[in-house]
Amino acid sequence: MTRPRPADGYQVVTSAAAIWLVWSAWYAAWALGAPLGPAAIAYLALPAGAAIAAHAVHRLIRDVSLDPVARRFWRLVLVAFALLSAGYAVLAGAAFRDTSVLPTMPIPAAVLAGAAFLTAMWGVARVPLGITNRAQRRRQWLDRSIALFGCASPLFTFGLGPMINSPDGWSTQTLVLLGLSFVLAVGGITKVSYIAGGPVDRVAIRLIGMTGLVGAGVALLAVTGGAGSVVPAQAVVLPIAPLLAAVAVRRQGASTGARPRRPNTWLPYLAVAAADAPLLAQLPHHQLTLAGRLDIVVAVLVNALVAVRQFFAMRDNSRLLREKRASEERLRHEVTHDGLTGLANRGLFRDRLAAALSAGDATVLLVDLDDFKTVNDSLGHEVGDHLLLAVAGILRSAIGSDGLPVRLGGDEFAVLVDDPTIDGEAVAQRVLDGFAGPMSAHQLLVRASIGVASAAAGTPLDTVLRDADVAMYAAKQRGKANWVRYHEGMELPVVGHARLGGELRRALDNDEFFVVYQPIMELATYRVIGVEALVRWRHPARGLVSPAEFIPAAESTGLIVPLGRFVLRETFRQVAAWLAEFGPDALQKVGPNVSVRQLHDPDFLGDVRRALAESGLPSDRVVLELTESAVLRGPQVLDTLHRLHDMGIRLALDDFGTGESSLSLLRAFPASIVKLDKSFVDGIEEGEQGTPEAAARQAVARAVIQMAGALGLDTVAEGIEDATQAERLRALGYTLGQGYHLARPMPAEDFHQLLAAQRAVAA
Ligand code: C2E
Ligand code: CA
Ligand code: CA
Repeated sequence: MTRPRPADGYQVVTSAAAIWLVWSAWYAAWALGAPLGPAAIAYLALPAGAAIAAHAVHRLIRDVSLDPVARRFWRLVLVAFALLSAGYAVLAGAAFRDTSVLPTMPIPAAVLAGAAFLTAMWGVARVPLGITNRAQRRRQWLDRSIALFGCASPLFTFGLGPMINSPDGWSTQTLVLLGLSFVLAVGGITKVSYIAGGPVDRVAIRLIGMTGLVGAGVALLAVTGGAGSVVPAQAVVLPIAPLLAAVAVRRQGASTGARPRRPNTWLPYLAVAAADAPLLAQLPHHQLTLAGRLDIVVAVLVNALVAVRQFFAMRDNSRLLREKRASEERLRHEVTHDGLTGLANRGLFRDRLAAALSAGDATVLLVDLDDFKTVNDSLGHEVGDHLLLAVAGILRSAIGSDGLPVRLGGDEFAVLVDDPTIDGEAVAQRVLDGFAGPMSAHQLLVRASIGVASAAAGTPLDTVLRDADVAMYAAKQRGKANWVRYHEGMELPVVGHARLGGELRRALDNDEFFVVYQPIMELATYRVIGVEALVRWRHPARGLVSPAEFIPAAESTGLIVPLGRFVLRETFRQVAAWLAEFGPDALQKVGPNVSVRQLHDPDFLGDVRRALAESGLPSDRVVLELTESAVLRGPQVLDTLHRLHDMGIRLALDDFGTGESSLSLLRAFPASIVKLDKSFVDGIEEGEQGTPEAAARQAVARAVIQMAGALGLDTVAEGIEDATQAERLRALGYTLGQGYHLARPMPAEDFHQLLAAQRAVAA
């Protein structure tokens, strides 16, 4: 559509209105009551007004690109007004020819005006209703019939009827024209009440329809005022039609197209009321009996009551409908929003992100609260909930209309920015700034780490989310309370360790770690003589996590230092308690594992001393298990190891045989015990006759025991899984062993029972 030029239509409207106003004011002030002669001038307004209307419609068709249906409608309206202005011109001519009498409508004028009405009716009739089903069509015809009969009755009673019977002798052509214009009006109005929107503007078509009512207006004025009022009636009322047309043109020109609306519902009521009017008008007639009058009143009353009842039923219906829509809306909201904070939930977030990515670029911010778990657990869930609400508030005000704030669950939030002109980093900074002050009634300081990732249209949703996740963990690793934008390759060093690192810190705060104990036994007697302490992580979601999974992460993030400190203290406390209960001979050694990172820590010796002092465990019971790689870490570590040795603590070389320099190591390093790695125990039951690999392993096991014997070291064989293995190792000279066959790592209570049972047997 080319841009409509509303100014054109507007000018037409204003000039038409101005002409009409000046005309009727002048006429009312001067011509009314004047002799008919000068009054003939009044008739000039009729062809002039119709011509202006025709011109306005012509400009509309010329300047505005219309839908074919609308174009057809307006062409017919143009023809109608052209015909009307011709007909009125003839009428005005007649008025000037003989200024002494009231002009009767000349036949050619009546034919032209009649053709004009029929053309307009045809135009209105051809506008499609957009009704698709039979129920709608049925209702539509019913309503239109009600309107037609309802309005016809007063028009006839108060207008045409008196005109036909009047002594003034109205010409047939005038009466036919009035009837026609009336039908056009009712047809147009009832029709438009069913047009829900479409190419022809609904107000415009209604205005065109109303031009027909002008005829009814003339009839009413003429009948009430008698013959003397015909000229003013025609001169003042008839120009309203072109004015209406001009306004209609303006509406159509500015119309933005279909805007579906509910069809009218008041029309039938209006018609019922209209039909009652002539009935009531009968009341004053003298010849009516009292019973007759009563009949009329009752009929009108019943009509009114039925209408009222109808009206209330309709209102109830629409209220029910509104309520149903509202509850549907509520339900939709509940499904797509978080109950606590009212923010969008994960499901809605994913839907919206997918939609955004299929349409264009999108940016995602993942917002994770630092240390929220600590707050939640130490201060309770109520405080936690307040905090989450405060966080939601911060997000809302920091983001404004630049994005969608989301609660993904727990203490994880997100923001979706789907407008590529908005800078996601600026949004992230605003969110961080929002966190800068103390929040909630408890003045808690919680900070957030934010990962920012942008993706081009078509990127898979999970890729963007993973990128943002990686960036978020990078932000956490850089020391919390900041944001990091994802860049290519960022995940390589970060993913895994950093993520676990974050979780480990939280787990430490939450006491999710505990120690299990695996007995070390005499192979000959299956008597417990020592114990290895192994750490476990009871993850709230994942359950028990193996140290093989998280120890490397703990080491790379440095968290092994506090974690190892916890294991030392916990183990020493526990073993000291057992020694107190079962006597100093119950356990000869207790072995916690120690990482190289711990040995590097300047406080390590202090930690060990404190743990010993606190628990009261004698240092000669302690065996620290170290791996070969841990020991090969330069003079500082070696110094630490010597100091430990000087304190009376023994050192065990773990996983012995798997490294490259196991033997040479034993000279530099004050070890007392070697633990033969499980890989040399596996398959040892096959003996010398087994596979070449099994034979080789057995050879190593034999070499290790011989070497240990030569150097005066104790040995423990690890990972013994069946009796044959135990037997074989014993035959090779191993006296101590550890493994699932002997006992699995177990919680402290189970180990306590084992010791109790053992004491009972000894007694
Ligand atoms: P590790 O020091 O060699 O510990 C022995 C591992 O072998 C333990 O696994 C134990 O459960 C498992 N094991 C014992 N007997 C058998 C058996 O008969 N068959 C099999 N298949 N496995 C057996 P876990 O507890 O998963 O520990 C894995 C490693 O994690 C440990 O190897 C140790 O290097 C490390 N680790 C465990 N706790 C700590 C700790 O508190 N601090 C440090 N720094 N490292 C630890
Ligand atoms: Ca170990
Ligand atoms: Ca080991």
